[in-house]
Formats: sequence, C-alpha cells, structure tokens
Amino acid sequence: MSAVILNGREISSEIRAELKAKIESLKKEGIQPGLAVILVGNNPASHVYVRNKKKACEETGIRSFEYVLPEETTEEELISLVETLNEDKSVHGILVQLPLPDHINKDNVIMKISPDKDVDAFHPFNAGNTMLGRARLLPCTPAGIMEILNRTGISLEGKECVVVGRSDIVGKPAAMLLLHSNATVTVCHSKTRDLKEVCRRADVLIVAVGKPNLINADYVKDGAVVIDVGVNRLENGKLCGDVDFESVLEKASYITPVPGGVGPMTITMLLKNTVISAELSK
Ligand code: NDP
Repeated sequence: MSAVILNGREISSEIRAELKAKIESLKKEGIQPGLAVILVGNNPASHVYVRNKKKACEETGIRSFEYVLPEETTEEELISLVETLNEDKSVHGILVQLPLPDHINKDNVIMKISPDKDVDAFHPFNAGNTMLGRARLLPCTPAGIMEILNRTGISLEGKECVVVGRSDIVGKPAAMLLLHSNATVTVCHSKTRDLKEVCRRADVLIVAVGKPNLINADYVKDGAVVIDVGVNRLENGKLCGDVDFESVLEKASYITPVPGGVGPMTITMLLKNTVISAELSK
C-alpha cells in the first residue's frame, strides 16, 4: 500500500489563513507585524529565499523591510544595522539570511539580535528555551515539522523517533521538540554506526542531512512516518530530498515530498514567529 503524501503547501495555507485573522485583529489595535530581512552579498540561492520570504509576508499582511547589503559590508556595519532594527518599533522580527560572507562571524551577529525579535530562534537565549521546553519563538524548520505531525493527528507519545542530522538549526532542536512530545528520540549523524539498523527502528523518521537519496526503503520500517527535510539540487536542475521518495512511498504510512513538504512550512513558521513577536511587543 502506498503512503499518504503529507502536503506541506496545504497545511501551510491553513496556518497562513489563521495568521491573517490574527494580523487583522492586531491591526485593529494599531500594530502591523513587521519583518526585517537582511541579506549580505550575492549568494543566488539566498536572493531567491529572501524574495520568497518577502512575497509570503506581503500575502499574509506582514510589512516587510528588506536590507540588501554589498559583499564587502563589515561585521561592525552589519551589527550596527541589527542594533538599529532592535530599537525600531515597527520591526517585530529580524532575520539575517545565512550564509554570511566568510569575513563575518555569524555567531557574533546572531548574538546581537534582540531575543524578542529573533524570529529564526537561532540566538542562544531562544535555543536554550527550546531545549527547556518554554520557548516563545521556536526554530522554524523543527516547528514546521511538528505542525505537520500534529495537524495530521500523528501522535508521538511513546513512539520511537529517529532524527538523522544534528545541526543546530534542524536536527538538534527537532529532537528536543519530539522529546517534549514524549517520543523516545535517537539522533544520528555522520559517525553513527549502522545507520540503516537505527533508522529501521523508527516509527517516525526525520531526515535532515543534505544528501540525495541517502535513505531508501531498506532504512524504513513498514508503516513508518517519514519526514524529509533535505533540499538538494540535482545536475538536471531538479530539487530532491534526502529520501528516495518512490521506493519509500511503498513502505511508509506517511511521507513528505520535496518540494512541497517541509519547505513551505519553514517560511510559514517564520511568519508565525513574526506574529508572535508582534503580539509580545504589546
Ligand atoms: P548541516 O550540513 O548543518 O547538517 C547535516 C547533518 O547531517 C550533520 O549533523 C551531519 O553529521 C549529518 N550527516 C552528514 N552525512 C551523513 C551521513 N552519511 N549519515 C548520517 N548523517 C550524516 O545541514 P542542515 O541541518 O542545515 O540541513 C540539512 C538539509 O536540510 C539540507 O539539505 C538543507 O538544505 C535542508 N534544509 C531544509 C530546510 C527546509 O525548510 N526544507 C531548512 C533547513 C535545511 P555531522 O554532524 O557528524 O557532520
């Protein structure tokens, strides 16, 4: 039997409709949520991401402020802009698009974003609160994964969850959110011995590595839920995830596609965080 395909675009539009209603009521109180996005340099993929974020803001009723800075911008100049935006009452969220040019230390910059406006939730304050289970702003991709699972009615309590990848922005916080939902969580990485055997234990398998087709049907238990976070561009220009979709489709109970799975949820959670920040500013 073929798995149910979890449609991230559909779940996103449901959440965006809820956000629009919240934004309307905030506007009645004189607050329009505002998101400032800072882009440094000429990374083509970053330009596409920033364009998509701006479009999503406009469609939802969030005011967007875009700062496109030249490649040679210094760390001090970037931090100075962040500090100005920290003080700006019309800006509720600040996002510094990564990666930054090599001469800028991203950690120094992230540390300067006010935790209340840190809509990526990369600041150690929000990362710490995510671990403690009391974050108001959650990192977008892991939060998006949780929305997909929750809104589909997939219960996590007592389930074996395996997360492949331990990055600070996806793998680690995703593992924490699953743990807070009472799952039993295993985190795998490049040094994990016998990845296949560990993955085969999973009731819910979350893959965030960045390697096309790393996970095929042999890694998947019958009836598992498979969430593919990976985004890889193949030589033919097509996007694909980390999971061999066609083979796993026949074995899993639910699966996210790439594109159209976790990706749209990530941007939607950014919008959600901006609305939360605007509500907190009251
Ligand atoms: P990172 O490169 O920061 O982390 C990759 C992780 O995968 C590391 O923990 C690494 O292990 C692990 N890894 C690498 N090779 C293997 C292997 N052979 N077996 C098991 N684990 C392995 O990536 P990100 O977390 O930032 O992103 C992961 C993927 O998700 C990328 O494709 C990225 O584009 C995508 N992504 C998608 C988003 C979306 O909205 N859909 C948002 C963010 C990311 P180790 O720590 O040992 O090096």
